[in-house]
Amino acid sequence: MKVTNLSSGSKGNCTFVCTDKTKVLIDIGINYKLLSQSLAEIGEKPENIDAILITHEHSDHIAGLECFVNKNKDVHIFAHNLVKEEILKKSPALSQNVFITFEYGNNFSVGDFSVHPMENFHDSKSCASFILSAGGGALGVCTDLGIITDNQVDMLSRCKVVYIECNHDINMLANCRYPKILKTRISGKFGHLSNDQCATACVKFAQNQTKVIVLSHISENSNTPEIAYSRVAEELELANQKNVLLLLAYQNKVGKTITIN
Ligand SMILES: [Zn+2]
Ligand SMILES: [Zn+2]
Repeated sequence: MKVTNLSSGSKGNCTFVCTDKTKVLIDIGINYKLLSQSLAEIGEKPENIDAILITHEHSDHIAGLECFVNKNKDVHIFAHNLVKEEILKKSPALSQNVFITFEYGNNFSVGDFSVHPMENFHDSKSCASFILSAGGGALGVCTDLGIITDNQVDMLSRCKVVYIECNHDINMLANCRYPKILKTRISGKFGHLSNDQCATACVKFAQNQTKVIVLSHISENSNTPEIAYSRVAEELELANQKNVLLLLAYQNKVGKTITIN
């Protein structure tokens, strides 16, 4: 399988994952024009997408969904039932029939992929992270969570490639222009992972099966890609984990395509 992040951050999230036969998106928080342009950069087209896995109903994850379904009526949308209901409230014109719902912990199939959904601590109606397996390789995509559970770390550390949230630097968050209520929300149990929390999880991934870690959903106001990267790299070095490749997912740039065998 191959994975490419198309956009990552609070202005929109979208990741493309494919095998030879199956093409899926994880989230669609970008508009159709940007999606088309981003997919064109990697030789793909929106009309060939078979399914979209939705993590949760926050707009940075679903902003492009209604337009996509209107243009591509055959697509299947996989979401937790609570997320589906919230999406239908926001987009009542969407047909119920495009949705297929899942339960956390119950694997489901999407073409060549077996998908394992896990429940995140996050302040949406519900929020999922996903492990996609195909052809002996596994990919974990885990963003939008205030804390990461031991079970999630354990499951993700079995994946060769993990996209993990590295949202904020706690000092930058404390000093940024956000109102106090938003700072409390972001740093709380149902908010987003700090660089420190992410770094601790990354050490565990690297100590197990993970070979590539992609730092994702990096805040533009309370973090920088450089600070996120150096914080995690520092922790990996302290733990003497030198055999893991550390990459970044970007808000405004298509990321590196990673092949997982
Ligand atoms: Zn988000
Ligand atoms: Zn969210």
